[in-house]
Amino acid sequence: MQKTVNLASEINSQLPAKLVSFMQAAGNIAAYQGQRLYLVGGVVRDLLLGQGNFDLDLVVEGDAIGLAQQLASITQGKITTHPRFNTAKVRWDKWSIDLATARYETYDRPGALPRVAPGSLADDLFRRDFTINAMAVQLNPGGYGQLIDQYGGRDDLEYKLIRILHDKSFTDDATRIWRGLRYEQRLDFQLEQGTLKLLKRDINRLDTISGDRIRDELELVLKEKYPEKVLRRADELKVLAKVHPALKGNGWMTEKFKQARQATASGSPPVGLYLALLAYRMTSEETQQLISRLRLPKQLGQTLLDTSNIKSKIKPLASPGLSPSGIYSILRGYSVAALTASALASDSPAASQNIQLFLSKLRHIKPVLTGDDLMRMGIAAGPQIREVLTRLHEAILDGKVSSRREEMELVEGWLQQNT
Ligand code: ATP
Ligand code: MG
Repeated sequence: MQKTVNLASEINSQLPAKLVSFMQAAGNIAAYQGQRLYLVGGVVRDLLLGQGNFDLDLVVEGDAIGLAQQLASITQGKITTHPRFNTAKVRWDKWSIDLATARYETYDRPGALPRVAPGSLADDLFRRDFTINAMAVQLNPGGYGQLIDQYGGRDDLEYKLIRILHDKSFTDDATRIWRGLRYEQRLDFQLEQGTLKLLKRDINRLDTISGDRIRDELELVLKEKYPEKVLRRADELKVLAKVHPALKGNGWMTEKFKQARQATASGSPPVGLYLALLAYRMTSEETQQLISRLRLPKQLGQTLLDTSNIKSKIKPLASPGLSPSGIYSILRGYSVAALTASALASDSPAASQNIQLFLSKLRHIKPVLTGDDLMRMGIAAGPQIREVLTRLHEAILDGKVSSRREEMELVEGWLQQNT
């Protein structure tokens, strides 16, 4: 028999005191209501690993919304509920806690969303992805802190293994393939051999997953600290090719992702920048296919299209003697993410330098004089105003004038030439 493990002291030492008293109060209320409450999923895994994780996921054998209402009223927190699944979120202070009713899931067909029904904790753990994510901790006063580990999650943590719970796991939900790679690379673990075999067997199930769900998974990958590790592994296992056969998780991409982090003040580049780098080597047709496969939202899609368009202009951008106003006219209107990606990814140092110049300086330069100023100087309202402003803008970009007075002198000169 397995010896009982109690995580009360890990909880006390690793979680903020406010969250600990919240969980104790929640356990007390649940017990009073005759329900059983558990801490589950990633936070249990990270407690055992000694890694900070304050995203509490609670599961109740009973009624999550009822319990959440009580908890929201004692913390004076905000509550959001989803009656269909009987789940709720309580937000107070800077914390956000998910409460779910323990549930049983079945899959009508591979790739479909599950059909759910209320169930026991055991049912709820059985529907989970990996053993290391399928542990729970009791929160009711009687057994507070006790670890529930039906699938050997603790051993797998020790042996650094990512293991699914049953042979149909990836057929039920192939997004777990991506999740598995993410945990494997994040934690420096390995896919357990049987799991790896089933991953290979079931890889075509990825074709049954909707674009939205694949995009969500890919976004989670790109929010990891080192997404390139996951993408390389995904390339190696032919998982990345299932997103699009032209995507490559190789040394080039690794290098570019590192540079992207160095170029980003926070050290975590936005998803759009990583995605543009990942897609950089695709043709414009392939880029289009990727945008529709992932059903990218408008802005992300535009970033990829912009990047592809900038790539088609690398040659003129690299031409010797290109003036600042020339650079401006090529690059105006593109998103910052696309420009940043292009500067990092282009294989022409001259083009990269010009894109950098545009990003750091040229794009911020504007004439001081306005259309109103020009009319006061005697230029008739109409298209001429736009033309003069454009010429003026070019002159400023090229350093020919650099103050309001010089701008006025230049315009006056043009007016005299025309009379
Ligand atoms: P992370 O640190 O990445 O947030 P997490 O374990 O908290 O890890 P979540 O995506 O927040 O992961 O999901 C919470 C829990 O829900 C997981 O630990 C896992 O037990 C379960 N889960 C999430 N997605 C799936 C899935 N596709 N299939 C099965 N179980 C899942
Ligand atoms: Mg989580």
